Amino acid sequence: MHNLTTIRLTIMINKLFFTFLLLMFARGSLAGSETVSGIGEYDDNNTFAKILQGKLPANIVFENEYVLAFEDIHPIKPVHVLIIPKGQYRSLIDFSSTATDQEIIAIVKSMGKIAKAMGLTKDGFSLMTNSGHNGGQTVAHLHFHLLGGEPVHWEKALREKNN
Ligand code: AMP
Repeated sequence: MHNLTTIRLTIMINKLFFTFLLLMFARGSLAGSETVSGIGEYDDNNTFAKILQGKLPANIVFENEYVLAFEDIHPIKPVHVLIIPKGQYRSLIDFSSTATDQEIIAIVKSMGKIAKAMGLTKDGFSLMTNSGHNGGQTVAHLHFHLLGGEPVHWEKALREKNN
């Protein structure tokens, strides 16, 4: 009798444990593989991953534990800085759903600091991110474009960039 209860208890605990594991697995894989149109899984050979790994050069304008900012190689405005998280996020979709609060707070705070440091406070600036196919995202590591130094008109800027 005693043995039977022990066996039943063990089976129940095992069931609970495997259900927990299954839930954790589903949560992790869903968060990590959410569809980003035009982008597959995170590829640590992408251009910005290489910059983070020190394998490609960049004109770095700001860095802290969570964030790196550097000049865009093909600037479309007098100031064109790319602000990226150091973590492996393909776009705003996975960043907003899986980044830690610290990473999210750090990048937002950095944006203000970088805009100030680049002298954009008084005349203003534009800050944007492209996500996936329709967004025209070409590098699959989340990045924000900080643009300033002259008025930014997005439709016109994008036309100029594509010509
Ligand atoms: P997006 O089209 O929003 O994905 O923007 C990607 C940006 O990355 C473009 O504005 C490119 O000019 C810029 N870019 C690509 N390669 C580099 C690089 N090696 N260093 C700095 N910027 C880069």
